[in-house]
Amino acid sequence: MSSACTACAVLTIDLDALAANWRLLNARMAEAGGECAGVVKGDGYGLGLAPVACTLHAAGCRTFFVAQIDEGVRLRAVLGGAVPVYVLCGLLPGTAEVFAEHELAPVLSTPEQIAEYRRLPQAMRARMPRPAVHFDTGMRRLGLTVAEAEAFLDDNDAVSDVDPAVVVTHLACADMPAHALNAEQNALFRRLRDRLPGARGSYANSSGLFLGADSFFDLGRPGVALYGVNPTPGRPNPMHTVVRLSAPILQVRKIDGPESVGYGASHVMGAGSRVATVGVGYADGYPRALSNRGHGALGAWRVPVVGRVSMDLTLFDVSAVPEHEARPGAMIDLIGPLIPIDEVAADAGTIGYEILTQLGSRYQRVYTGGPEGAAA
Ligand SMILES: *Cc1c(COP(=O)(O)O)cnc(C)c1O
Repeated sequence: MSSACTACAVLTIDLDALAANWRLLNARMAEAGGECAGVVKGDGYGLGLAPVACTLHAAGCRTFFVAQIDEGVRLRAVLGGAVPVYVLCGLLPGTAEVFAEHELAPVLSTPEQIAEYRRLPQAMRARMPRPAVHFDTGMRRLGLTVAEAEAFLDDNDAVSDVDPAVVVTHLACADMPAHALNAEQNALFRRLRDRLPGARGSYANSSGLFLGADSFFDLGRPGVALYGVNPTPGRPNPMHTVVRLSAPILQVRKIDGPESVGYGASHVMGAGSRVATVGVGYADGYPRALSNRGHGALGAWRVPVVGRVSMDLTLFDVSAVPEHEARPGAMIDLIGPLIPIDEVAADAGTIGYEILTQLGSRYQRVYTGGPEGAAA
């Protein structure tokens, strides 16, 4: 067996950059007396739950959020005990034993979930970390309505039974600082949260951490910014680049006359131009919407995607790159220092979150930096 890499593309994940991003966000919170959790749902936003969580924990992160119960089970196996893991989907009917067995904390989101939690035997509740309660202040997705939250807060027995460690709300427009809903959600959350002095207030996602100090509360919940996506759209990205996706040129085709390239003959190139083929396509999560729109980088050159992105292959116009640089085996970055995820997402008509979480399974994944054993 050869030890040569047999994958067509390499996804490099810089765990030191991930750790630096958490520290940068945590430092913002720490100045105001709070701290940052880490949101690692969606397999650590597509980058691998175990290496991501180990790295964040080694950087000092002591609270984690996942979306689903199974993600929590996997995360508990990675982290061991002691670190609270909150499951945002809440206490689904019949799942309490799983929460207890894996020491997961539910984020209670409906009056029914609160009632179910209160019905659990004390011995079972004692095996879970104290729960969180989710108040919906404007997202209208998960959480108690303001009226339900007030009814809960008015019920002293319920509050002392549940004894939440954290109260959560989630911003709908954190990446749009001027949006009026931000002030509305802030005022609602402050009013509700002040009635639970024994709980930590958890308010800001990545973009929320850039809305100003009145958005900090006690526990930040950044996700996407940890992974290098810009939490301040339209302004320079304060985060370090975590992801690089590079693929070698498989072959270079010289175009003789006006000739079309790729499916549907959607792009015509002139005589003397050159097109480079790389082995990444939409089956790898490289969006087909980048057809005739996206860019790669070959060394210092930006090279446009030409023709349609196909399932396993994408074509780049390398006519502007000297022939000895644009040759088979030379690496083209599809995401990297010159091609930010945010640019890829914008060109594809989507957001960095979706690019990250769609990253395919055919890449050779290389983890650099990070704590001992994180990438194992
Ligand atoms: C996904 C999620 C986060 C993290 O949001 P980012 O925008 O990725 O920082 C925080 N809180 C909740 C409830 C979420 O669903």
